[in-house]
Parts: sequence; C-alpha cells; structure tokens
Amino acid sequence: MDTDGHDSIGWGGTSTRDFTVQSAYVYQSVGGQTFEGDWKALWSWKGPHRIQTFMWMAAHERLLTNYWRSKWGVGISPMCPDCDRDNETTLHVLRDCPKATQIWIRLVPSNQITNFFSLNCRDWIFRNISNQPQGIQSKKWTTTFLVACWHIWTWRNKTIFEDDFQYPTNPTYIILKMVDEIDNCNHNPMNLYHGNTIFIGWKKPQEGWVKLNCDRAYKDSLELAGCGGLLRDSDGRWLTGYSRKIGTCDALGAEMWGMYLGMQIAWRQGFNNLQVESDSKMLVDMITGKARINGKPPTLVRRIQELLKLNWQVQINHTWREGNRCADWLANFSFSLNSFQIHVMKTRPSGISSLLFDDISGACMPRNIRVIV
Ligand SMILES: [Zn+2]
Repeated sequence: MDTDGHDSIGWGGTSTRDFTVQSAYVYQSVGGQTFEGDWKALWSWKGPHRIQTFMWMAAHERLLTNYWRSKWGVGISPMCPDCDRDNETTLHVLRDCPKATQIWIRLVPSNQITNFFSLNCRDWIFRNISNQPQGIQSKKWTTTFLVACWHIWTWRNKTIFEDDFQYPTNPTYIILKMVDEIDNCNHNPMNLYHGNTIFIGWKKPQEGWVKLNCDRAYKDSLELAGCGGLLRDSDGRWLTGYSRKIGTCDALGAEMWGMYLGMQIAWRQGFNNLQVESDSKMLVDMITGKARINGKPPTLVRRIQELLKLNWQVQINHTWREGNRCADWLANFSFSLNSFQIHVMKTRPSGISSLLFDDISGACMPRNIRVIV
C-alpha cells in the first residue's frame, strides 16, 4: 500500500484576504452545521481539479469580485461591471447577474427554479454540490453546477481582461459539452488503482481541552531549521502561538523542539488537559514508546517525557500535514524572525488568518490512499 498526498490544491497566493476570526464564528453560527460532509462532496467529485479549487475559493468568498476588491480599499467600485445594477458579490457573478441567470434558467429544472434562486451563497453552493434533499438530485447535476459556475466566472474574467473576447452565443451548449466529457471520462475503465480517499482536517479539541499543534520547517538554501506551533481552545480560538528559528538541526530534532516548546508554554499557562498533535509519526511513536530507541533517548525526548509526568493530562497524537497547516505556517514564520529566541504570540499574525478560518470552519482536504492491485 502506498499513500499519496495531493499537493496540487493551489493555496499559494490565493489566501490574500485577511479573514478575521470573528467572521469565522459568524460564518459558522449562520450555517449552524459542520461542513465536513459538504467538502467531501466537493473533493470526491471526479472532474478537473482546477474546478474543485475554484469552487472551494468561491465558497470561502475568495473570488476577486469587485465587491471584495472595493472592501480592500483599492479604489474600485463594488458594482457589477456587466449589469451595473448591484454589488458584484460572489453570488451576483455566479447566479444573480442577468448573464448568469439566463444560463441557469436553461439548466435548472423548472420546478426547482424558485428554490435555486432563493438560497444564500454558501447554502446555494453546498445544496448544489451535495445531493441534499432540497437540492436537485442527480449525480450529473453536481457536474453541471460546477462546470457552469466555473465557466461563468471564467467568461466574466475574460470579458474584463481580454480585449478581443467574445461572450459565447450558446453558453449552455459549451457547458453541457464539458459535462458530458467529464462524465464519460469517469466511465473509463482504465483505472489501475482502487482509490480510497480519506479527508483530513483540523478538529477542535473536546470541551475543557486545549490543543497544541506543532511542526518544524527547513530552509535548504540557508541550512536553517525552525519550529512553531499554536494552542487553541475547544472553540478553535487562538490562545498562544510560538515560533523559533533553530539553526542547524535535523528534521526530527526540529520536530522535537516544536513539541517541547509548545508543551512548555501550555504547562506554564496552567492548562490541565492538553492534546498534542504533530505530523511526525516518528516523533509521536518515540514519545509514546511505540518506537524502540536504541540506547539513550535524545535529550529533548527525555525532556518531553518529563513534562508528561507532571500533574496534568496530555494526549499525544499523530495528524497528517493537512491537519497541521497552521503549525506549519508558524514554523516557516520563524525564518522571518531576526533572532534565534522563541517568539511568543498572544495574538495571531495576520498572515495565518485564512488558515485558522479553514480549520475553524471544518474544512478538510483529500488524501488518497491507493491500493495497487
Ligand atoms: Zn451583474
């Protein structure tokens, strides 16, 4: 068996919007549900990856519509450049702008039209990608919906940025043609793998517990290692973060530093129940005694084990990289520090906001476990 992580999701450069944790809470309470199942419907859809990524961004309000650009104060009007009737929000571009509406009324079954046009953005997206009772129930609909949204957005961009672009005269034909291509491709028996996709995301610790995520980072060009991590409560709220540039150090050593420093902070802050998560299986196994160590354990392993003996409850668990992205960010953040001293952050640095937001909203990412027959 061979595990294979997807690295091509394309986070880079897309997370420029500074989400506030407040907005994440509002978001979550408005939805009143965890979105894990919905993300599964999106990531397990069999079609072009760029379309999945696009929809992920749309659901996270990360499409660069005029409305969002105007909010950044870059002197842009929030209005829709096409119809000039309303703010150009995600929902406006993808559904409510007359150009989009004309496409949808040809695609959506007539008995569903009212419902289709009445939902808010997030519900609208999730109802249409997952086959929920109120949605339009058909496997093919997910593909039609995703492909149509993607084309509508692409055509909108081309209209704005390409001088000689002609809006297609028969957009539904182009959409349905691509839908057929995608669905036919899925019936192709040339599949050597029995794929098994698992979904990984950060999970809040239970009530009364604090979760520590820790990680290491490495900069080849400078032969520098760093580590970092963060503590969050059972609502996913930021408690403390830390980051430290280490200097020359091997990967496992840097993982140890990350865990040790984080546990030390947690102990000093007086938490009684701590869940520790690291994406180093090796380190977790060493600490928990699953991995045999020849000779004397490394000093840092012994120090971590000493911390475990103190009067508190600590669980040490392995997580995948996809569930440890905030810690990874903080470990890399250490390279921006001027000194080799630990940098403790009572408030979150702004660059990490969108990752915190993803974690708090229950976002999860696919990882394929492939069994080769
Ligand atoms: Zn419009």
